[in-house]
Amino acid sequence: MRNRPDPSTDVEADDEPATCPYCESSNTEREHPKGPSLCRSMHFCHDCGEVFEAFG
Ligand SMILES: [Zn+2]
Repeated sequence: MRNRPDPSTDVEADDEPATCPYCESSNTEREHPKGPSLCRSMHFCHDCGEVFEAFG
């Protein structure tokens, strides 16, 4: 009778992909630095293979 919510639905973090400063692609992925750099985040660009920092 009841319609349960689908548990397989992807719940992603509220992260918008950063734009690569090198090739301006948004095909980027957030990386998780091991250091205590909480005020910045590392992103990896799948298009040009560069790693860049984004502030926020
Ligand atoms: Zn790039």
